[in-house]
Amino acid sequence: MPQQADCVFCKIVAGQIPSAKVFEDDACIAFLDIGPLADAHLLIVPKEHYERITDMPALEFAAVTLRIPQLARAVMEVSGAEGLNVLQNNGQVSGQAVPHVHIHIIPRRQGDGLGYRWNAGKYPEGKLQQLQRALAGALGT
Ligand code: AMP
Ligand code: ZN
Repeated sequence: MPQQADCVFCKIVAGQIPSAKVFEDDACIAFLDIGPLADAHLLIVPKEHYERITDMPALEFAAVTLRIPQLARAVMEVSGAEGLNVLQNNGQVSGQAVPHVHIHIIPRRQGDGLGYRWNAGKYPEGKLQQLQRALAGALGT
């Protein structure tokens, strides 16, 4: 997937606009989010342009996720956080503002006021099994 001329993260990857880069390898770069939810909030970005993870070859996504543990350890060490969220949005409806795949590492501490509504539902009779069959069918399993 070629770089996209109008994409802010492609421009960061190409070095055309600055970023506070902390890590780079053949597959991805990681830099500080310019609008942090907490100090040391990091973004991990594949070097190739894909809008959503559903567009990505699995091994290219794996090459990016491979780096999560070491980057998360660095974020924990530097921020002194008590925990962290790994967040990855796909599509405007999910909150994705930059249409180039990226993974957030967000440090968390007690009382930080972050979080989101987790309105857990309950399946009506038979619905869970119906979805299980549909997903297994889609997966061919
Ligand atoms: P999302 O809502 O998941 O698409 O997140 C996009 C994130 O990219 C936001 O948290 C922004 O603060 C961040 N962001 C946008 N432009 C830049 C930039 N030039 N450098 C660093 N982070 C950026
Ligand atoms: Zn891009």
